[in-house]
Amino acid sequence: MLNSVELTARELGMMKLMVDFFAEKPELTAKIESYTTAHYALLTTYSENFGIPIEDSLKVFEELQRKLTEAEYVHVKAPEPIKKLLPLTREELNMLRVLVDYFSESPKMAPAGSFLSKKEDALAEAYLWFYGSNEGNGEVARETLKNLVEKLQTAVFIKVDTLAPVAVAPNPYEAALKQLDLAAEKLKLDPGIHEILKRPMRTLIVNIPVVMDDGSIQVFTGYRVQYNDALGPTKGGIRYHPDLSLDEVTALAAWMTWKTAVTGLPLGGGKGGIRCNPKEMSKAELERLTRGYVRAIAKFIGPFTDVPAPDVYTTAEMMAWIMDEYSEIIGYPVFGVVTGKPINVGGSRGRSEATSRGLMYTVIEAAKHLGINLKGATVAVQGYGNVGYHAARLLHEVGCKIIAVSDSKGGACNPEGLDPEKVLAHKDKTGSVVDYPGSTFITNEQLLELECDILVPAALENQITKANADKIKAKIVAEGANGPVTPDADEILFKKGIFVIPDILANSGGVIVSYFEQVQNQMNYYWTEEEVRNKLKETITKAFHDVLNMSKQHNVNMRTAAYMLAVKRVADALLARKGTAFSLESPLTPR
Ligand code: NAD
Repeated sequence: MLNSVELTARELGMMKLMVDFFAEKPELTAKIESYTTAHYALLTTYSENFGIPIEDSLKVFEELQRKLTEAEYVHVKAPEPIKKLLPLTREELNMLRVLVDYFSESPKMAPAGSFLSKKEDALAEAYLWFYGSNEGNGEVARETLKNLVEKLQTAVFIKVDTLAPVAVAPNPYEAALKQLDLAAEKLKLDPGIHEILKRPMRTLIVNIPVVMDDGSIQVFTGYRVQYNDALGPTKGGIRYHPDLSLDEVTALAAWMTWKTAVTGLPLGGGKGGIRCNPKEMSKAELERLTRGYVRAIAKFIGPFTDVPAPDVYTTAEMMAWIMDEYSEIIGYPVFGVVTGKPINVGGSRGRSEATSRGLMYTVIEAAKHLGINLKGATVAVQGYGNVGYHAARLLHEVGCKIIAVSDSKGGACNPEGLDPEKVLAHKDKTGSVVDYPGSTFITNEQLLELECDILVPAALENQITKANADKIKAKIVAEGANGPVTPDADEILFKKGIFVIPDILANSGGVIVSYFEQVQNQMNYYWTEEEVRNKLKETITKAFHDVLNMSKQHNVNMRTAAYMLAVKRVADALLARKGTAFSLESPLTPR
């Protein structure tokens, strides 16, 4: 399978430095000839030009070399007025390999000989030596080098197609399997059912051709993973990201399976996405890509099979395109094929604040359980985006005192309390919560370690780790973000008596209201915001107590309890539907 990888800005910079050396009038590498090896010359010049240590230059070179060694095809985007992303010819790609090898510590593609004098000749010679006579004579090699240099000197973007698998470290699917295994062990899960739950039920990989604004064609790889539908149609978002991998989508689909199950929704779990860089694409390109993705997966999605939703870098507007394209294929409006739509085309009231409202309801229950009075209880919120802002606003509404909030630039702290609406207005005006009038600056690390009753991590994963778990002083940690606490930190918090409301429960308000959107679409009858809020409260409060009871019954923390409950519900549904066919413990199963 061909995967597309972009060169980073640093790698592109280094590439340009290499070709500059062969340009007619080198600007960046004028001094390079004073060095004895091309490798050292490149690393030193790169470090000086970009102001980074030489060890980092070496890392950039090694990563660039790896990508180009593994490349099947390389595409180069020229600047205006051409601006197209076009492939290098096979000869140019071979020459590129020779060029990069030439700058390596011990070149393998060049015969022994000089490098610094007559450098074009050295490269042409190496090219002919390595690739043999099929590649023409020295003249052709020099012409190829000249063309390559011209293309790379002005390149604004380089994409590499490779057959090498896309690897992510740490692999999230591995983490998802570990969580399943732990729950299975505690539940003494039937081994046959456990075997089924380790893998997704169905995985789609599609390649979507898109005509780009510049007239070139790019083919993007999209995924849709339907992990398990024992409890109902699969449900889960669509993520657009340049580093997306199938293992990541699979893990996210597994987590959706547990999230819908723990909240008691009649839904399974799925997830999808496209490997693309939405920040580099125009709106028209994104629309063509999204519609192409729908056409590619249309046979496998639908209100009764699999219902996508927004996720990282996908928006309500895109959900409307998905609904429209699918409806064009089916022949009539099918609002229920996707959720997270704008309200005027079948979206639900209350969706934008749903995740945070759900989180607030779980905090209310946790506070009751722990005997904490929410009137005046102190709250710190990390991340002030959709989830963080609404969480601060809603907890403030029920009487909590918001003593600190933060975003990627840092935090604002005031032990006397912050007004969430005014902080938002300040952020809208200045781009950050930092320097909010009357507050003092606080780092994200300090915010997590504040003395407070409730801590809401609502930004990124892996924020509370083995390194800082011991310093957390909150009584309740409500996970607005996905995966903000690492498993080893979880253990530490549990031992310290900190009550963690796990992500699959605390931030499940979003998927609950998405489910309500599906229901309203199917009825073609829409609820008021109050009805949505009441139903959300009822659903998530019940889920909270189901998990709490499981945790008391098995003396495990809330996260393990949530996984146990979810896995048990999916397993029971599988057994109920399939009879004993897949149970290794059934006396009816042949041995
Ligand atoms: P968002 O993009 O609206 O907001 C993210 C916020 O985090 C921004 O304020 C950003 O400045 C801040 N941030 C980024 N890097 C940071 C850093 N290093 N330190 C501190 N703050 C940082 O995203 P969102 O929709 O609010 O989602 C936040 C988290 O909640 C994500 O983990 C997401 O997966 C999860 N989540 C969101 C929903 C939802 O409905 N939006 C549902 C479930 C889970």
